[in-house]
Amino acid sequence: MSDCLFCKIIAGDIPSKKIFEDDDLLAFHDISPQAPVHFLVVPKKHIPNVMEAKPEDAELLGKLLHKAQELLAAEGCGEKGGRFVFNCKSDGMQTVPHVHLHVLGGRRLGWPPG
Ligand code: 5GP
Ligand code: ZN
Repeated sequence: MSDCLFCKIIAGDIPSKKIFEDDDLLAFHDISPQAPVHFLVVPKKHIPNVMEAKPEDAELLGKLLHKAQELLAAEGCGEKGGRFVFNCKSDGMQTVPHVHLHVLGGRRLGWPPG
């Protein structure tokens, strides 16, 4: 989508600090990190949020989760873990309407969210 921030990052029109890329996925550091480790994993396919994902997106989103797991471990959080978050729509405080998994780690994270 031409007016989508993350589609522009995927296209390379906006720079990002990439961690991983293949034909289906891109992982990059969040511009405003909320933990020592905070990166986003996005499908290259424009899907507005996980609540609007279709059954045919299941394989892609499964691949995204597995890659996120691998990358968090590679960032040194394999033992202590972290958090995987999909914000959705207005009550979920989603600000970029392109599916993105927040992956956070490197400190003890608070719960419940504010
Ligand atoms: P949301 O609030 O939609 O769940 O998360 C959007 C995330 O995208 C936020 O954590 C925000 O810091 C991040 N973000 C917004 N603009 C940019 C950008 O231009 N580059 C990068 N790397 N992250 C961004
Ligand atoms: Zn998009």
